[in-house]
Amino acid sequence: MASASPVRVRFCPSPTGNPHVGLVRTALFNWAFARHHGGTFVFRIEDTDAARDSEESYEQLLDSLRWLGFTWDEGPDEVGGPHAPYRQSQRMDIYADVAKKLLDGGYAYHCYCTAEELDERRELARREGRPSGYDGTCRVVTEEQKAAYEAEGRTSIVRFRMPDEPITFQDLVRGELTFTPENVPDYGILRANGAPLYTLVNPVDDALMEITHVLRGEDLLSSTPRQIALYKALIELGVAKDIPQFGHLPYVMGEGNKKLSKRDPQASLNLYRERGFLPQGLVNYLSLLGWSFSKDQDIFTLDEMVAKFDITDVNANPARFDLKKCESINGDHIRMMEPKAFADACTPWLQAPHANWAPEDFDAAAWDRIAPYAQTRVTVLSDITANVDFLFLKEPVEDQASWDKAMKGEPAALLTTAREKLDAADWNDPESLKQAVLDAGEAHGLKLGKAQAPVRVAVTGRTVGLPLFESLEILGKERSLARIDATLAKLAG
Ligand code: GLU
Ligand code: ZN
Repeated sequence: MASASPVRVRFCPSPTGNPHVGLVRTALFNWAFARHHGGTFVFRIEDTDAARDSEESYEQLLDSLRWLGFTWDEGPDEVGGPHAPYRQSQRMDIYADVAKKLLDGGYAYHCYCTAEELDERRELARREGRPSGYDGTCRVVTEEQKAAYEAEGRTSIVRFRMPDEPITFQDLVRGELTFTPENVPDYGILRANGAPLYTLVNPVDDALMEITHVLRGEDLLSSTPRQIALYKALIELGVAKDIPQFGHLPYVMGEGNKKLSKRDPQASLNLYRERGFLPQGLVNYLSLLGWSFSKDQDIFTLDEMVAKFDITDVNANPARFDLKKCESINGDHIRMMEPKAFADACTPWLQAPHANWAPEDFDAAAWDRIAPYAQTRVTVLSDITANVDFLFLKEPVEDQASWDKAMKGEPAALLTTAREKLDAADWNDPESLKQAVLDAGEAHGLKLGKAQAPVRVAVTGRTVGLPLFESLEILGKERSLARIDATLAKLAG
């Protein structure tokens, strides 16, 4: 897309609650768009709702963006920029000033209607089948009326006066959209106590920060015609230069084809971090929510995404969040890592609180040997702990379900033979260990799969895990046979 002015986009979350995947997708698309066009990524904090915003949530947002690898060119605190401050709570004078200009210029007006009056008239409009938004009662208030209202002790909010003609704009994702006046009534921009609302502060900041492209979720589409009208007023007042272009990103659907909500546990970014998703794996998957890299490739790096990403390629249809696919893509990214990077990334999962072995029982040499087998098999890093704990725990974990599944038929007879054959095998050669278990199985009329299950559970505690014979080799003959002996004793007892 050829654009005369340089691209300036913003990511402007409100610090309420935990970061969620929808928010991350919005940040990602803005960030990638800015990087693709060599533009500027502005990070702004919309913290004007003191009742809902928290410092903790703000810190979490910063931490999440850093973890994901998104860097911003302008933003709060030490990053700064020509339009500082980037926290709306520090920009209140600016909003008061703009609101005054809008009032003085007749673009906004005081509305004295009480909540009860508004309710009543809305009800009536509904019953009569008319549009039920604000009806413009206070558009014209004479000086006497005003004095009477104030004498009655009424307070007023400030409303923006919407134009009486339709608003049409070209959405970068959805194409041309038109909103008719009856669907976009005059809306509040200041509360009765003078506090500015999102409807004012968001477009005012976009204007002052010279944002060229507003890329945000479809849930905000209804505010766009209001903002365009406000922009026109701001241009006439000399506050804004241009109206930005808008692109509304498709909804993300969760389980049962319901919109993924912020409160959905599946939506929480922290959940993915805790499970050991790689930022590059998660970002790869999230980029596919409404966009695609190419017909036949869905695994790519962030750099490759940036090279290709354009907002006009985003699809307007709702995207479905598919956890299985997300995991599988993450697994692919785990396999793409340098072995050393993989081993380093696993470190937290080899320690408390994830790991339940004593720190001195961790054997770095054994870990180095098993790591390559883990790297080709896990989909999330948190899977590592259970896959390697048999190496570091004194006794394998007790997993009753695995025991019940593996110890069927005559497990003691099979294990006795397997122990004999394993004792005679070459413990530097996994093939030899495999042959020993094969032979033991054959002696009892069992195929390899059935024969190895009791051995695996005896040694690792679980029916599933990393390749068994390599695991045995790394654990070593002495410890492996001792565990088979312990299992035989348990079966006998
Ligand atoms: N602070 C708003 C939100 O988090 C930003 C919406 C927008 O991008 O305009 O919903
Ligand atoms: Zn009114």
